[in-house]
Amino acid sequence: MSDGFRALVLNASDDGKKITPEFKTLTPDDLPAGDVLVRVSHSTLNYKDGMILNGLGRLVRHYPHVPGVDFTGEVVSSSDDRYRAGDRVILTGWRVGESHWGGYAQMARVKADWLVPLPDGLTPAQAMAIGTAGFTSMLAVMALEEQGVSPQADGEVLVTGAAGGVGSVAVSILSHLGYQVVASTGRPENSDYLKHLGASGIVDRAELAAASTRPLLSERWLGAIDSVGSTTLAHVLAEMKYHGVVAACGLAGGPDLPATVLPFLLRGVRLIGIDSVMCPYDYRVKAWQRLVTDLPKTRLDEAMEIVALRDILPYGEKILKGEVRGRLVIDVE
Ligand code: NDP
Repeated sequence: MSDGFRALVLNASDDGKKITPEFKTLTPDDLPAGDVLVRVSHSTLNYKDGMILNGLGRLVRHYPHVPGVDFTGEVVSSSDDRYRAGDRVILTGWRVGESHWGGYAQMARVKADWLVPLPDGLTPAQAMAIGTAGFTSMLAVMALEEQGVSPQADGEVLVTGAAGGVGSVAVSILSHLGYQVVASTGRPENSDYLKHLGASGIVDRAELAAASTRPLLSERWLGAIDSVGSTTLAHVLAEMKYHGVVAACGLAGGPDLPATVLPFLLRGVRLIGIDSVMCPYDYRVKAWQRLVTDLPKTRLDEAMEIVALRDILPYGEKILKGEVRGRLVIDVE
């Protein structure tokens, strides 16, 4: 590659209401300030990327903008002692792709603090099949473990939004670790896929999304990983077993939580928040190491669809409609 490289650039109309994507050739001088210049090989499509590609949620405040919340690649140059040319790195979070230019370009310049080394045992494409979504799933599993939810305990762990990115990786990890996993999905056509990933049972999304008329329901779940929020999370809280633990990751069904405190007061239920964006460095490295050992690579490869950067735009709309299954990896090279 000469100095010029390809990038997807989002431009805003004068009134800021219309976002227009454009594939452009940029040079490193166009990139924002940072300590490390990375030649990006792969990125991914998260729900948040879908929002940004469509100009939703006021996530991006300054245009022109290069989207791409996650990327992996090789260091070209670094003014920070922790990285040298040739090192393979991963970036997820830190509002890259939102407030800082991201990975939908063949080059990115970022802060060294935001990077982690690509762990041995993962290819760059696999790292992006994991991406923010899979990384979040691992954080959620680690949160359940830290709260004492164990595969040896008698009971099932529920995963909501199971056919999505966070959900499908969570099902794979939990099942690999020996948990009994029940997957909730609104797309019954994905039931066999979810069973293949390791789910022992399937619950219809509508059953959990119905607002509960009672603050406590029959005790059902030892643990839960929820990417849906709203009435689904409220329903799940009401169905937790005594001392059950819920890891709240997402808001695919809405950001509200129409619940009562009774599951906390009468059953000692614990609700743990999961944040992947500002997660501290040491914990990040630990989570990536766990992903190497606890996420079966065959399942990851099956959940991965690779798309060239030039073909990404229609997928930005699909993920917002809940039509993307598993993980989409973007080949940036
Ligand atoms: P996906 O779109 O891949 O998955 C979301 C899944 O939720 C869908 O596949 C669908 O699963 C289900 N779903 C979608 N719409 C609804 C609805 N209206 N009601 C109930 N269920 C619904 O997104 P991701 O997996 O990438 O992200 C999931 C959530 O987690 C998002 O809200 C995202 O913003 C959040 N997130 C949070 C992070 C954090 O740091 N806390 C990091 C990454 C993501 P199915 O078809 O199986 O029903």
